Amino acid sequence: MADQQKTERYKARQQKVKESIDAKVDAAQIEKGLFLIITGNGKGKSTSGFGTIARAVGHGQRCGVGQFIKGTWDCGERNLLEQHGVNFAVMATGFTWETQNKEADTQAAQSTWVECKKMLADEQYDVVLLDEMTYMVNYGYIELTEVIEAINNRPASQSVIITGRAAHRELIELADTVSEVRNVKHAFENGIKARKGVDW
Ligand code: ATP
Ligand code: MG
Repeated sequence: MADQQKTERYKARQQKVKESIDAKVDAAQIEKGLFLIITGNGKGKSTSGFGTIARAVGHGQRCGVGQFIKGTWDCGERNLLEQHGVNFAVMATGFTWETQNKEADTQAAQSTWVECKKMLADEQYDVVLLDEMTYMVNYGYIELTEVIEAINNRPASQSVIITGRAAHRELIELADTVSEVRNVKHAFENGIKARKGVDW
């Protein structure tokens, strides 16, 4: 095929792609805060949630983070984002399989949830991340109906991100965007330690 012909074909193909994308962009006219879920067994859920918070902070938006399960160790994202005005509500009891005390875990989850509900009801917050929230619902520490109610009643312009494995079906139904991170392989399976700056 002559070079000239190749160039023409390429141009025509790209023009079609452009038209198709432009049509989709034009069709998306709804403006509202989003509810996103990042779930699945692979690494990258919290990273993605915090990446979105960093993105919003970069635009001068007001953000909040509720951190469930974790909290006893140094958290790089918290160290950075608190300096940029991000409000953190942290469940500081460590991992549930470490405490092995359902009542104490439920209480810790509930007091963090109270703080999160305040953020979800406050229109000053543009983006709220509920990190590892899926477990709280699955373990029964926080009522699914309460979570759904708080998300449904949040200010129209506010976006919410929930991360964690095994997101409840009803949360998935309610969400606007759901991504599943699949585990292909993880360093931990080969005995490699979790690494500061990469894993926390
Ligand atoms: P990250 O915070 O790195 O984005 P994550 O939020 O997707 O990870 P979590 O289930 O919250 O995953 O696990 C947090 C910690 O467990 C991180 O240190 C992460 O590297 C590690 N981890 C995540 N996925 C796996 C996996 N499939 N196998 C072993 N460890 C994992
Ligand atoms: Mg996580």
